[in-house]
Amino acid sequence: MKPILYIVIPCYNEEEVLPITCQMFLDKIKSLIEKELIDNKSRIMFVNDGSKDKTWDIIQELSLKDDHYIGICQSRNRGHQNAVLAGLMEAKEKCDITISIDCDGQDDINAMDEMIKEYLNGAEIVYGVRSKRDTDTFFKRLTAQGFYKFLNWMGADVVYNHADYRLVSSQVLEEFSSFKEVNLFLRGMFPLVGFKSTSVYYERHERIAGESHYPLKKMLALAFDGITSLSVKPIRMVMTLGIIIVILSILGALSLLVTYFTQGKMIQWIYITTIVFLVGGIELVGMGIIGEYIGKIYMEVKARPRYIISDRTYQSKNNRGHV
Ligand code: UDP
Ligand code: MG
Repeated sequence: MKPILYIVIPCYNEEEVLPITCQMFLDKIKSLIEKELIDNKSRIMFVNDGSKDKTWDIIQELSLKDDHYIGICQSRNRGHQNAVLAGLMEAKEKCDITISIDCDGQDDINAMDEMIKEYLNGAEIVYGVRSKRDTDTFFKRLTAQGFYKFLNWMGADVVYNHADYRLVSSQVLEEFSSFKEVNLFLRGMFPLVGFKSTSVYYERHERIAGESHYPLKKMLALAFDGITSLSVKPIRMVMTLGIIIVILSILGALSLLVTYFTQGKMIQWIYITTIVFLVGGIELVGMGIIGEYIGKIYMEVKARPRYIISDRTYQSKNNRGHV
């Protein structure tokens, strides 16, 4: 049986680009249907993220023009990550696979063929990964690459150069729906769900029209969200710093003792620095310990699933009844 695909596309103030890219998406889905890779019940699902321009009107018109276009509208602007989640959760009951992609034509839609083939070969998640960043400015490239390196270093496991262009099966989405957290960083959360995953490489283009809604400020906010919602490493760093400072103060005390017994004098500045370091270090260690507990509370409050079963030898979606 051919899978039903839902292409989930978040749109925020995209009246300039949507009339151009909507045709590209339609051509793509039709060609995938013709190639018999997906079922004719597949759809292009636009998620209007509380746009202030004509985006929603355009989406409504499109849905009247062709059955393959459908749309949902968020009550207000909630940001890209929430818009993607809304679309995926809406789609998961209606389809077998979803592909999330931006609506500005930057991500190469031709990678979809390969993504679906990977799904047919058994992958449940297929990450779209940018092979190069020639079209980005030097600054964007540098900040974006720093972003991934920094995230990994801080303990948030993300696929390098993967944004939010990915194929996810409805089975994975079903499990994903029990990740109840409010601060979303989807690209770091899907690897946590597990299941067989792979990557497909594509070249990223320039925006076809309109302008980016992701200035440096929003990118930093996203990075910060990613780190703080996926890792407690920053707390541990406070503790490590505290321990280092306490060790330094012990060295200071030792050097004081040595100079006192060998030269018979007390060096004032080392004396004061040692005391300041000792007190400061102990405070930091204390904060780190408290932080460690807060970190645990934070993880508990998220109430993430403790295990996820990916397969059974018998057919029972809810695991109810006898086998
Ligand atoms: N977007 C959204 N809500 C927002 C901001 C952006 O749904 O609050 C959508 C936007 O319409 C686009 C995608 O998220 O489809 C990526 O945004 P953009 O192209 O501005 O970011 P960039 O590609 O420059 O990082
Ligand atoms: Mg873009």
